[in-house]
Amino acid sequence: MENLGLSTLLLHHPYTPPAGFAAVQAPAYRASTVFFDSVADLRNHDWKENAGYSYGLHGNPASFMLEQRIASLEGGRYCTLYPSGLAAIAQVLLSLLKSGDAIAIPDNSYGPTLRLAQGELAKFGVQVQIYDPMHPDDLAQKMNVQTRLVWLEAPGSISMEFPPLDALLSHCHARGVTTVLDNTWGAGLAIQAFTLGVDICVHALTKYPSGGADLLMGSVTTQRQDLHLRIKQGRMHLGTGVASEDIAAVLKGLASLELRYAAQDQSARRLARFLAEQGPILELLHPALQHSKSSADSHANWRRICGATPASSSGNNAQGTGAGDAHARAAGIFSVRFQPQYTQDQIDRFCENLRLFKLGYSWGGPISLVLPYQMEKEARLDKEAWQEDRGRLVRFAIGLENSVDLEQDLAQALAKL
Ligand SMILES: *Cc1c(COP(=O)(O)O)cnc(C)c1O
Repeated sequence: MENLGLSTLLLHHPYTPPAGFAAVQAPAYRASTVFFDSVADLRNHDWKENAGYSYGLHGNPASFMLEQRIASLEGGRYCTLYPSGLAAIAQVLLSLLKSGDAIAIPDNSYGPTLRLAQGELAKFGVQVQIYDPMHPDDLAQKMNVQTRLVWLEAPGSISMEFPPLDALLSHCHARGVTTVLDNTWGAGLAIQAFTLGVDICVHALTKYPSGGADLLMGSVTTQRQDLHLRIKQGRMHLGTGVASEDIAAVLKGLASLELRYAAQDQSARRLARFLAEQGPILELLHPALQHSKSSADSHANWRRICGATPASSSGNNAQGTGAGDAHARAAGIFSVRFQPQYTQDQIDRFCENLRLFKLGYSWGGPISLVLPYQMEKEARLDKEAWQEDRGRLVRFAIGLENSVDLEQDLAQALAKL
């Protein structure tokens, strides 16, 4: 191969750098095409094991690395990545359901999950059974022989109701129905999903693992090879790939995941306690803090599922300050209901009057966020938690700011109410 033209020489240059460059962070591997050493390699490539590379869409060294780290984080064995949390959810639904099947979805689930099921899935003949996750008997009643998948989420990301996952799972296990937990809130830290008996975890890596509010990604993790292979094959059929730079960014985010989760949790509990004592606040909705009678079940479920130690199990735990509760983790996100006399307009102004809290979707990022919700528009079952006249709901996602500054911001906006 002498006398190559310059373009050819630049592309087929004989120099290769020495192996053994090792750095703290994995690089972004950008590729559609990847080379095979021989035709035999090309023909024998097996997609089931990550034994080699075939095409950029199906993985590169950094994506395999991230999949393994997410699997370890969640306590699973197999993981696949997706370009968003919602794409991960869609993959599970499309890979595991067929026409004539039914899926049970909690009434407080992440909205787009339900809309996907009621939209696209219903079009393909999949029935949707909406259940109240706070009442396992309701799930038991709504499941039938067609129910193939039970969706779980803890807590509901607006209502903050923390369901008895253990009781819901035992109904599913009794019927042999596959279970999926949207584990975005727990982030692989607060809930030991596979120990509880969940089959599949989906996780919006967009939130805590990224930590930057600057990218979208999702994962599907399981301990079951059969489910993994169905999902992984389905991913190849749909052609969903993940950007290389985003993979490198999430690998970097994982390094501080546990510290950020703990810091945001602590700051959120502090601010939630502060808000609970303010006159305009009717009710605090934070699973780690029992404020009113109506959140007692959520709090008890959170304590049991997330492993609060018995130290604070008895007595008046109205502010959730017991030592035992500090051992159990929670995401830095909570909602409040305002006293019913405040109009939606007043609540909207309150949100706009906040200076450090920005109006925006998502959580787990560095900047604190606030969102006013119109509960009657979110309601899917006719139950008390969704009724507007119980007071208007605002959700706070706590970032990494100094929590004293955040408290002052809340105080000044409340004063203007
Ligand atoms: C954000 C979120 C998702 C979806 O993740 P995207 O990356 O935004 O698509 C799914 N479930 C929950 C609970 C979420 O908070």
